[in-house]
Amino acid sequence: MAHQEPDCLFCRIVRGEIPAKIVYRNDHVLAFRDISPVSPQHVLIIPLRHIASLSDLSPEDEGIAGQILLAASSVPGILGIRESGYRFVFNTGPDAMQSVFHIHGHLIGGKQMGWPPFPA
Ligand code: AMP
Repeated sequence: MAHQEPDCLFCRIVRGEIPAKIVYRNDHVLAFRDISPVSPQHVLIIPLRHIASLSDLSPEDEGIAGQILLAASSVPGILGIRESGYRFVFNTGPDAMQSVFHIHGHLIGGKQMGWPPFPA
């Protein structure tokens, strides 16, 4: 098993200690439905290995960074939003309101979104 933190919420989901609605898993990443979805399709894509945030990636993480992006490319097909479109967002740090410190990309779709993603 890749490096884990005992008390990390998402490491606990990786270990199966907390239930999750899993949509995709391979040897490197896990994709599961967000418990509080902000759109009709809202899935979190995480590495099995504990990395706290996007800011904590180092050059040695090139492989896992690629695996996360590859999952973000394939999971929309599972969700049926490959053609309609989707967004892949990493909340990082206080201004972005990151609340779980195990790196995760929010894959959201299933509705028309606006841009910019915040009120002017
Ligand atoms: P962030 O605010 O970017 O750190 O996102 C954390 C996300 O994790 C939020 O969208 C939460 O709804 C989601 N979340 C928290 N606990 C769980 C859980 N047990 N299962 C699935 N998603 C969760």
